[in-house]
Amino acid sequence: MTDRSLITTGAVGAIVAASVIPNSTIRCPVCGTAKTEIMPTDACQYFYECTGCGELLRPKPGDCCVFCSYGSVPCPPIQAGDMPTCRPT
Ligand SMILES: [Zn+2]
Repeated sequence: MTDRSLITTGAVGAIVAASVIPNSTIRCPVCGTAKTEIMPTDACQYFYECTGCGELLRPKPGDCCVFCSYGSVPCPPIQAGDMPTCRPT
């Protein structure tokens, strides 16, 4: 009698979460200032104020957030392969 096959399920979602890079370096297109920011994993950031010149950055057309447009790493939903959860209406 072997019931061990029932034990190996579960914990699949944790693998995806662990592969997501939480930091992204945003480079301002106006003054060139680059700053590494920690991205929220449950929501995307639509606006970002440059720490160098104060310019309020917003996503380029087709991008869901400022990290996808100006960051070195796209936002967590994109990294995970899901549809962006922050897509503007
Ligand atoms: Zn700037």
